[in-house]
Amino acid sequence: MLLGAIADDLTGATDLALMLSREGMRTIQTVGVPSPAFDPGNVDAVVVALKSRTNPASEAVAMALDAFAWLKAAGAQQFIFKYCSTFDSTAEGNIGPVSDALVKELGTDLTIVCPAFPANGRTIYKGHLFVGDQLLSESPMRNHPLTPMTDSSLVRLMAAQSKMKVGLVAHDVVARGADTIRQAFANARARGEQALIIDALSDQDLRAIGEAAAELPLITGGSGIAIGLPENFRRRGLLSSRAGVVHFPSPPGRAAILAGSCSEATRAQIKAVISAGQPALKLDPIDIANGRIAVDKVVEWAIAQDKHTPLIYSSADPQEVRAAQEVLGRQKAGELVEDFLAKTATELRLKGVRRLIVAGGETSGAVVGALKPSALYIGPEIDPGVPWTLTMGDEQPMALALKSGNFGAPDFFIKAWELLK
Ligand code: ADP
Repeated sequence: MLLGAIADDLTGATDLALMLSREGMRTIQTVGVPSPAFDPGNVDAVVVALKSRTNPASEAVAMALDAFAWLKAAGAQQFIFKYCSTFDSTAEGNIGPVSDALVKELGTDLTIVCPAFPANGRTIYKGHLFVGDQLLSESPMRNHPLTPMTDSSLVRLMAAQSKMKVGLVAHDVVARGADTIRQAFANARARGEQALIIDALSDQDLRAIGEAAAELPLITGGSGIAIGLPENFRRRGLLSSRAGVVHFPSPPGRAAILAGSCSEATRAQIKAVISAGQPALKLDPIDIANGRIAVDKVVEWAIAQDKHTPLIYSSADPQEVRAAQEVLGRQKAGELVEDFLAKTATELRLKGVRRLIVAGGETSGAVVGALKPSALYIGPEIDPGVPWTLTMGDEQPMALALKSGNFGAPDFFIKAWELLK
């Protein structure tokens, strides 16, 4: 194995695994830290998907160190810590504390911090993170149910979370290419900076940063930062393969959609399903808390839709989310919905569902945590950052599309099935 990656949520892990696959690395994604006996097969990269984004920092650090130990024992030569391209984190972390711990474990003195993902509109300029045309703090991320982002300065955000001295490599340096970036790393080292935010506006910038980062033991960022890394191994003659995406036949059986993301993109995708006349059932967290709605009734409804693909969703606008959180608490509301959707997924599988779209990072983590596949193969890409995946080691494999809430075009829930034909 060449690259070992630790991702703080499941859809982020899939997004990264897709990026590495597309760039020619044979990549699989595991769900949680594999057992010591797990054999990933003949692969160039393994992405360990954690569900640690909103855990207390000490728990997130312990999980990341476990994953690191497994990847190191499996032979990984370079490591990536993958988080969201919108730097989703709580006030305490966990991006800073996990980066600190991995830097210490690797005995290195420098890492980079680069969540840019230009294909999805996430760019960094003068250390400020943009989502499309908006600063992060003015984007819909300011209303996220679990990790509202109200500052756009990555330098400030990282400095608040991390014990490392934070620096910035600005775009005028990045634009001059890999050698200049490497020189900037050396200058930063001399100033005692350990965590470098790096501007990136395009894939070309990310490829140059990737090339400059060839010798860094740890790279942190979004999936975009991985775009230039496979080429480093190819240059050293360690990677010969080109195509890493697995093509698999559609598993026979029923299909369903579960959405727990309240992001704008997901809400638009739900609207499109409803406008197309497809069956949709909305869950209210307060009904779940009061036991007014039960998993078996929801599954019964889904199965009764027969030839139509049912959509079950809790997604709500910021006002509704706030109202539910006032009654239940932010964390509790999230957990109730995640748990309900995870149980629904397990029951749907028992009823023969074999193709499932899940919207939401935390939601996908909960659902896949309940379905418990040992690992996932990465299949064809539906929209930037979201591939179909296939569960590994199952007698009756399931095709899963795990969508980060903010990803995908409005017709995502409608067109995704075409790729499985
Ligand atoms: P995204 O990928 O958009 O960030 P996530 O699944 O990661 O989506 O996060 C959404 C969170 O919001 C989850 O914890 C989910 O359970 C919670 N949630 C979903 N619906 C509601 C709702 N109606 N009210 C409050 N919280 C909700």
